Amino acid sequence: MQKEYVFKEDSSLEHYTADAYVVRCTDNRFRGVFKHFIKHLGFEDIDAASPPGGAKVFASPTKDEDREVALEKIRLLTPVHHIRRVVLFTHVDCAAYGGSLRFNNDEEQEFEFHSSELKRAAEVIRERFPDLAVETYFIDNKGIVRVGQ
Ligand SMILES: [Zn+2]
Repeated sequence: MQKEYVFKEDSSLEHYTADAYVVRCTDNRFRGVFKHFIKHLGFEDIDAASPPGGAKVFASPTKDEDREVALEKIRLLTPVHHIRRVVLFTHVDCAAYGGSLRFNNDEEQEFEFHSSELKRAAEVIRERFPDLAVETYFIDNKGIVRVGQ
């Protein structure tokens, strides 16, 4: 069968070492701050997943299978890209959690909730992959807050 390219560009087939495996929400409103923070951390190559809710997929997935699928991705990629660090995010007004309305727009209550979700997500990953370092962050309209540790 003949391959007809609709777009041409060369890519290297060499594997890289990922600075981290990063999980954040699909919601792209925070793409700017996320991108700048990744650069701020000094990351060049990351492996990234963006399920709705970000770290929610580990802490309180809609279906238990979703958690297993998400963990399987880490298991698969860790040896290939020499992953040693997992970085998890959730964010303010996340639709997967019912938005800020769920917290009656109470900023403190919403942050407390996300902190406990992030801690639970980190525990799930540490339990399955004790050799990986896990960091957790909350994103809002003013920036990024580290949670835990
Ligand atoms: Zn979200």
